[in-house]
Amino acid sequence: MSDIETFKEIKEIMISQKHSAEDVGLVEKAYKFAKKLHEGQFRVSGEPYIIHPVEVAKILVGLEVDTSTLIAAFLHDVLEDTDTKPEQIEELFGTDVLNLVQGVTKLGKLKFKSKEERQAENFRRLFIAMANDIRVIFLKLADRLHNMRTLNFMESAKQKKIAQETLDIFAPLANRLGIYKIKAELEDLSLRYLEPDKYYEIANLVAQTKADREETVNLLIDKISQDVKKSGINAQITGRAKHYYSIYAKMKRQNIAFHDLYDITAVRVIVDTVRECYEVLGLIHSQFKPIPGRFKDYIAMPKGNMYQSLHTSVIGPRSKPLEVQIRTWEMHQVAEYGVAAHWRYKEKGSQKADNASDMKFSWMHKLVEYDKEMKNAQDYVKSVKLDLFSDQVFAFTPNGDVLDLPKDATPVDFSYRIHSDVGHKTVGALINGRIVPLNTKLNNGDIVEILTSKNPAPRLDWLTFVVTKQASQKIKQWFKKNNREEHVKMGKSNLEHELTKAVFDEYVKNGEFEKVAKQMNYQSDEDLFAAVGYGETTANKVLNKLKKPVEKNPEDAFHTSNRKSSKKDIEGLEGLMYSFAMCCSPIPGEPIVGVVTRSKGVSVHRADCKTLETIPPERLMNIKWAGINTNKTYNTTIRIETAEKLGLLKDVISAVSDNNTNIVNANIKTKNHVGIIEIGLELDNIDTLKKVIACIQSLPDVYSVKRIQTSSNMVKKTSATKTQKSFRQKRNTKS
Ligand code: MN
Repeated sequence: MSDIETFKEIKEIMISQKHSAEDVGLVEKAYKFAKKLHEGQFRVSGEPYIIHPVEVAKILVGLEVDTSTLIAAFLHDVLEDTDTKPEQIEELFGTDVLNLVQGVTKLGKLKFKSKEERQAENFRRLFIAMANDIRVIFLKLADRLHNMRTLNFMESAKQKKIAQETLDIFAPLANRLGIYKIKAELEDLSLRYLEPDKYYEIANLVAQTKADREETVNLLIDKISQDVKKSGINAQITGRAKHYYSIYAKMKRQNIAFHDLYDITAVRVIVDTVRECYEVLGLIHSQFKPIPGRFKDYIAMPKGNMYQSLHTSVIGPRSKPLEVQIRTWEMHQVAEYGVAAHWRYKEKGSQKADNASDMKFSWMHKLVEYDKEMKNAQDYVKSVKLDLFSDQVFAFTPNGDVLDLPKDATPVDFSYRIHSDVGHKTVGALINGRIVPLNTKLNNGDIVEILTSKNPAPRLDWLTFVVTKQASQKIKQWFKKNNREEHVKMGKSNLEHELTKAVFDEYVKNGEFEKVAKQMNYQSDEDLFAAVGYGETTANKVLNKLKKPVEKNPEDAFHTSNRKSSKKDIEGLEGLMYSFAMCCSPIPGEPIVGVVTRSKGVSVHRADCKTLETIPPERLMNIKWAGINTNKTYNTTIRIETAEKLGLLKDVISAVSDNNTNIVNANIKTKNHVGIIEIGLELDNIDTLKKVIACIQSLPDVYSVKRIQTSSNMVKKTSATKTQKSFRQKRNTKS
């Protein structure tokens, strides 16, 4: 068919779809503009080039896309293949059209190389991330579909390569968007070039069994149509073979021959309402025996791409097994056109009132996590990020492998992702062929080449810009391992500082540190000192393990200010025995109040501790921290409320340990779909705690982080509020 005839058809379809005369005029202008630009260019088939954009537009008009998309279909190859400037397109057809054309052009430059599954999935996501507008993906899919329809003109090696790419990237994309029509055609065309023998075998067998199939379906219709009519249901019943690729995939998956496949035929029943779907299901099951385990209710539980239908398999007429799909007309639209179906409804409902961005993104969002409770999704969607994968960036190795990294990732993150050895040896990076600083942020589609040295030489300042846990951990580990002497020295000096040099030396001589090292699972006292040096453990912990002077209760945080090795911690308590209150676990740096107790000296509370409300003012003492002793640690408990999500705990734990804070215990539970994590922390002062809380708060899916009033050792036994209550009750009975 000539381009002129095809264009005439497009025009007619547009008019039948109630496009305005003005829109039809614009589309005609685009057609003529493109025709002139592609003048003298030919396809491999020998046809004039303009045939291609016109055919692409025809595929799209079948999906009832908007006018901008149709215009862009005619222009989709002009930036790449002609001298046209973007400004020209903008001037003639507006910014929306220009963005679409540029979007398709950009995607056309992506090179797909690997066939690996994971890789393919990354490509598909990269594709969506780069498209930014769902209409661009429509254009690209229509472009690919027409190229596949005309693939027979290509040389054989190219045919296979393009077909494989279509099967790996484009058909799954169409599936993801729910456009069954395009997905099925892309798969069948791919099969034809990848496995021609199988393709023609299946095509022949399907053709041969056609009469047989029709007869079976007609018998089924005869059997149930009376019942259907009696129930006052208006149903359309059709039967046809499944598409070739799905038959092929099934034969391959189950390793069986065509004749052993029992559900080649799909019977489709389309009715007006959801209730009628279930009624028809009942009618069919009362006439034909259902095959157990084959019923699927995709109406109650739609698929991720919004597909809805009832599926069942029955022993049909003449004992032939049949698969039956039952759906409403609206569901049918979604099943055939996916995302585009929504578009069709919207455009009709409110004629152009919807802005483009609405169309662009609401479905993208729903595709990723379809929530059927979210009936009124529009407002919500507007507040959702425009770009689906905006927290991710996809970059390529020079070999074409895609790496999926968090947003703001740098070449250093990239190199550690490849391998920690590559990371350690990184000295420079090229992005898209240009040398860049190592802290450059990567963009989607960047090709990153890492320059390495012979010997590993990571730099500490990388820690200021890397964003992946992997990179920062590997860098830290390297420095731990490779600066051992310094760490040992620092650990020793920390301990000497606490114990005095003389005592320290004596303990070394007597092998006391060796003993502690063994207790704490270190090979030697040197290893122990190194661990103190790089902060894996604290001097305080080591001191606690050393043979104790005369302390009655060494396990709780009980101190006396006249203890020989201890320095002055709190002003106002000189010479007094004191302990830290279990109810609120104060931490250096925050306001505190002393409470004189009957037997245990002074109990130190946080100034905002609820317990203080019940204490007579004459027993309160003004005290404050004397300064922060970084070698001591204190316990406190925080409570984190999160989304129910696997893997989140891991992020929380890294957020804690990234701030040089130890976890003493953790308690996890879920309640009404909220995850509750309580963590007992061991840290040095209030600023560290604030940092830890801020870090956890910034994690996605964390709802709230609160410090709670209970000691960490008690969390193990009982929940926070309970502990506090019983504590208060106890107090009340006493007073
Ligand atoms: Mn094209």
